[in-house]
Amino acid sequence: MPGFIPENTLDDIRSRVDIVEVISEYIHLKKKGRNYVGPCPFHQEKDPSFTVSPEKQIFYCFGCAAGGNVFKFLMLHEGFTFQEAVESLARRVGVTIPIQKYGGRSTGPRKTDSVIKINLLAKEFFQQVLSRWEEAAPAREYLQKRGLSWETVNNFELGFAPGAWNSLVRYLNKHEVAVDNLLKLGLAVQGKKGAYDRFRSRIIFPIRDFSGDVIGFGGRILGAGEPKYLNTPETEYFNKSKVLYGLNESRRYIREAGYAIIMEGYMDVISAHQNGVNNAVASLGTSLTREQVRLLMRYTRDMVIAYDADVAGVAATMRGLDLMQEMGCRVRVISIPEGKDPDEFLQSHGIDAWEQLVTGAESLLEYKFRQLSAEGIGKGENKSTVLQQLLPNLANIQDDVERAESIKLLATRLHTSWDAVASDLNRFIEKERKKRPNPDKIAKNKHNIKHNNRQLDARTKAEKMLLRLILENPRLVSTVQKELENNFFSYPVFNRVYEKALPLMERKDYSPANIFDLLDENDQKVLSDLLMENIPDTEPVKILPSYIEAMQKFLRQERRESLMDKLVEAERAGDQKQVSEILEKLQTLL
Ligand SMILES: [Zn+2]
Repeated sequence: MPGFIPENTLDDIRSRVDIVEVISEYIHLKKKGRNYVGPCPFHQEKDPSFTVSPEKQIFYCFGCAAGGNVFKFLMLHEGFTFQEAVESLARRVGVTIPIQKYGGRSTGPRKTDSVIKINLLAKEFFQQVLSRWEEAAPAREYLQKRGLSWETVNNFELGFAPGAWNSLVRYLNKHEVAVDNLLKLGLAVQGKKGAYDRFRSRIIFPIRDFSGDVIGFGGRILGAGEPKYLNTPETEYFNKSKVLYGLNESRRYIREAGYAIIMEGYMDVISAHQNGVNNAVASLGTSLTREQVRLLMRYTRDMVIAYDADVAGVAATMRGLDLMQEMGCRVRVISIPEGKDPDEFLQSHGIDAWEQLVTGAESLLEYKFRQLSAEGIGKGENKSTVLQQLLPNLANIQDDVERAESIKLLATRLHTSWDAVASDLNRFIEKERKKRPNPDKIAKNKHNIKHNNRQLDARTKAEKMLLRLILENPRLVSTVQKELENNFFSYPVFNRVYEKALPLMERKDYSPANIFDLLDENDQKVLSDLLMENIPDTEPVKILPSYIEAMQKFLRQERRESLMDKLVEAERAGDQKQVSEILEKLQTLL
């Protein structure tokens, strides 16, 4: 999984981070014996079964079997990728991740320290201008008129770009930033007489990426002028199809609320936050992209769209909605009364009225039906066209009850029968299935994860203890290897853990918590369960032989059984020579 972050950097981070400290920021932990316990953030529970071990630097929930090391916790809780979890912890403990090692993965813009620093300097410049410059007085007035408090302006770090051609270029030159870099970052434009500022006479909205770094800017013109909104252009570092405005501020609230609100513009999101709607984000273009949906899906699958009533391209909106549903989201659409945008509505009606709008939001199907049938659905021909366009959406509904209800809804609205809609839907699904032969892969994987590691047989129990002894006491490995053959684990997960652990155990700074980064989700759960189980506090060297003995017994029995099978076969075939050979071997195994 890692690889692009050097192992010694990972070790450096691990050695400075304390899992109890990190998790304490998210949930209230209480000391209990050697461990800490608290309410599990990953499932609903009354009695805390979420356990953190400071010794082992891992967590495990005895209720829902979530478990892993500190990286895993952040991945699950913040929706981070492994790399993002590492980056966030690195920042926290002041470890720099060598950038040149990033090569080979092109999942996103490659930020270097200097890119981050230049954008930060620019952001600070714009902020200074907005708060202090005489020239920015109209901008301050404008923001005030739009109802933004100074606190909100500061929270979102809004700024103002002066009207002169090279204020920012000059400012950054003073800070020894080369003009080349400004061009590269889209902060300046190359003109005939040299580089000049891209953003002039604009209110500036810094745009942060997932890890909180400013990677670009949006600028709204003050007064007349074109274009009204100007973004940092697409550069090596800024790809607006992979960013959602406000996600950095709202992700915690999205998880709390259980749904995300997707709006159109910066001002909507900022005003929403100021009015207590903290789970709002905005896409920076008109239509949502797959990457943006994926970002949101780290927190929720429940999406509420709150676009302006006078949305320019309904078709573009619908494409975004279809995409979300196709990717497995539940999509609802808010229609704001009186043709207002969310900002206006919130300012004049407040949060309670807003929440009523959310509660009454239309399902994607209702919304689309309303749009598609705007010209009337009287004629049979029209009916069938509308239905055909909605079949993909019906087919994408995973929940059986919801699907049945949606069929009913459509049947009613189209003045036709349930059966008519259902049979059209079945035909459609059948046709789609033929086009795509292998859709069940994900479901299958999910099924595999449902391993119940509570009901283990005697052999697996012995394997479990043996593996735990080895993992916590690497010096026992040589004894185990001498006494038992290779691949003695019958439980495949144990075998995988053992094999991944072996090379790590040779290192001086080995800790069982390090194995997690090399395992998939399910194996991580099994490993945390194994490491967290309470066992009597006995000297490992003393109890090891009894487990080795038990294992040897199981292995003998396994060989005996396989010889018995062969014996039956040999007898059936009348091969006397083989029969006596097998009997001889069996003797030695008694
Ligand atoms: Zn749990």
